[in-house]
Amino acid sequence: MRALILGGTTEAAALARALTDVEVVTSLAGRTSRPAALPGRVRIGGFGGAQGLAEYLETEGIETLIDATHPFAARISANAAEAVRLRPTPRLMLVRPEWTPQPGDRWTTVPDIPAAADAVPKGARAFLAIGRQELAPFAGRADAWFLIRSVEPPDRPLPPNHAVVTARGPFRVEDEAALLAEHRIDVLVAKNSGGDDAKLAAARRLGVPVVLVKRPPLPEGERVDTVAEAVAWLDGLR
Ligand code: NAP
Repeated sequence: MRALILGGTTEAAALARALTDVEVVTSLAGRTSRPAALPGRVRIGGFGGAQGLAEYLETEGIETLIDATHPFAARISANAAEAVRLRPTPRLMLVRPEWTPQPGDRWTTVPDIPAAADAVPKGARAFLAIGRQELAPFAGRADAWFLIRSVEPPDRPLPPNHAVVTARGPFRVEDEAALLAEHRIDVLVAKNSGGDDAKLAAARRLGVPVVLVKRPPLPEGERVDTVAEAVAWLDGLR
């Protein structure tokens, strides 16, 4: 069987590794300059919308599509749903579970990134752990200081008062707590991505409040939240 995995996540890589008896093609958007090594074929770059993805499924003879993209990558997931309507192909979404609050958490949940930028208090020292591509809403916040962490150097515009750390997870809770303390962070801004929760655990430990961005809605369709369930679903197709 030939499967296309829409990737860019830890789960997508784990699924590609788990599918030893399937011909796997992993698709990456090309956002990171040095993606981690993956088994099977890797193709990089956009397809040209849902129509382009449907054409790719057809020309490559793809028999199943697993959308294992990040829960905040809403456009590609919508495109995948539309592509399999245009070129009928079994599609599964592999989506890691959301984080839920634990005792001691001080979360303010906001609907999107602009709302997160509004939620940072005046004069705050905020840790922006939301990636590098959606920082523009913070650019006008000259009344606060920001520690920006991303895998690649951040896109401009950026807020005037900031420091940048480039780093790739997974992170350890101890190191996250040390980072919060070193920069005297008084609010953490994060997306509810799920998965590695070291920064949230560190904030909980230090009593640091969190502005947490809610996930965008997912398209309709079959969905699992673990790699093992995705493997079982693929086995069920054969
Ligand atoms: P997005 O806004 O949903 O997608 C924008 C466009 O990028 C899509 O329309 C598509 O272009 C292209 N694209 C996205 N993912 C692709 C993939 N896996 N393979 C080929 N083309 C892809 O996506 P995004 O939020 O920028 O995320 C891009 C990638 O980074 C995804 O693979 C995602 O899993 C990963 N990622 C995202 C986040 C996040 O917070 N958003 C975090 C970690 C990893 P065309 O329309 O031309 O096909």
